[in-house]
Amino acid sequence: MTAKRRFRMAPSPTGSIHIGNARTALYNYLLARQCEGTFVLRIEDTSRERSTPEFEQAVLDGLGWLGMDWDEGPNAGGDYGPYRQSERLATHKEWLEKLTAAGHTYRCFCTREELAEDRKVAQKEDRAPKYSGKCRDLDANEVDARLEAGEEAALRFRVEPRAVTFDDLILGQLEEDAGLWGDFIVGRSDGTPVYNFAVVVDDHLMAITDVVRGGDHISNTFKQIVMYEALGLAPPRFGHMPLTLNAKRQKLSKRDDSVAVEEYREQGYLPAAVVNFIALLGWNPGDERELFTMDELIETFRIERVTKSNAIFDFDRLDWFNGTYIRQLEVAELARLAKPFIEAAGLTIPDEDYLERAVALEQERIKRLADFPEALRFFLVEEVTPDMKFLVKKNGTTEETAAALSTVFELVQDFGVDDMAAMEENLRAMAEALGWKAGELFMPIRVAITGSKASPPLFDTMRVLGRARVLSRLRDAMRMLAKDAQDAAYGQSN
Ligand code: GLU
Repeated sequence: MTAKRRFRMAPSPTGSIHIGNARTALYNYLLARQCEGTFVLRIEDTSRERSTPEFEQAVLDGLGWLGMDWDEGPNAGGDYGPYRQSERLATHKEWLEKLTAAGHTYRCFCTREELAEDRKVAQKEDRAPKYSGKCRDLDANEVDARLEAGEEAALRFRVEPRAVTFDDLILGQLEEDAGLWGDFIVGRSDGTPVYNFAVVVDDHLMAITDVVRGGDHISNTFKQIVMYEALGLAPPRFGHMPLTLNAKRQKLSKRDDSVAVEEYREQGYLPAAVVNFIALLGWNPGDERELFTMDELIETFRIERVTKSNAIFDFDRLDWFNGTYIRQLEVAELARLAKPFIEAAGLTIPDEDYLERAVALEQERIKRLADFPEALRFFLVEEVTPDMKFLVKKNGTTEETAAALSTVFELVQDFGVDDMAAMEENLRAMAEALGWKAGELFMPIRVAITGSKASPPLFDTMRVLGRARVLSRLRDAMRMLAKDAQDAAYGQSN
């Protein structure tokens, strides 16, 4: 039996989870689930000033909302803890000592100023900056003496110039010349290891078999590989995903784009739509299929089909997915999801049944749950304020519109609004008798009962509003028209 494969997601909790990181998590999750492997969550909170428990919770909430569950992690336990990088400091230090004992490091006394000066010179000479190696061959006694004297010293890794290669799960064979790097720092002068070393130790001790992460980590990977080798460890397999770019082909940034998963949640995107959308951001099944549930993704996703080129984040496409998922929901479920958005907008829902009927009318049109308050406002307010410009019949007078609405009022009073076919028949006959086009009659009615000229289909809208609301709004509109006519007459007589 082959050992279980172990995948991990290693977010830095320096904000709510970014949509790009959610995609990284998703791919790892899918890979782990499809081979019945393990999905590990490790919180990389070593940047103490920027990582907060609130952000950690936001990351966990974001992943949970998207429907990914992890087998091991800070709140799930597991045999490879602790799962917070900050709690593993003592272990990282031990491994730094191992690296040193094996002769792969040396003390570097160069000051910040000296290093900055070196970089400046390199820049002037048009060379890539690289550590000069000044402290590489210091005499052991000198090192001891300087340390004893309290001089600060970082720990550098001795890089042997050579080609470093690995077979990337997504990008294929990759190679870099280690001779370009210079000796890099693995431990700070206060004894703490740098992030890139901690990751090696953690991935090794957590028995991670596959590291799938963003393409921005490729340069880290090469260095990690040489550190694995220096420690006598076999590196895991690596896969680097394409970056997510905005429509301007720039890296998605917090400043310019909506990148936090939390924002999508607040705007009323459904987790299933977001998952479907990010799954296809840099991957496709090789055929025309676009709609995938999480289970279908687990079945269909193949890392070999992850694209090598960067993925463009298309907000319209996300809206399309969301609308599609909204239309697939049961009305009762959609109403349940819409409710908090409507209430947050200060609107009162008279009863659940009414809400469901109104929601059903918008289901075809709505793109995001956060659009519900505006779309349903006219159903929920006591009174609407019709736009005079559209309330009066096009090329018609206030008086004739008022007269027509008064007839409509009588029709509604006599026949109610439930029989939509009868209502339509009556109104069409009425328009014909007036010598109006049907639309010329429907528009003032629509504006009277909804306040605006865009609404769901008229007869459905009347049915859902119900007889009492329709009558009272028609009455209000007639009053408005009468007042307008009066004002005009008064204006004229003066
Ligand atoms: N903590 C890193 C990040 O959030 C991930 C590093 C990794 O996956 O190795 O970008």
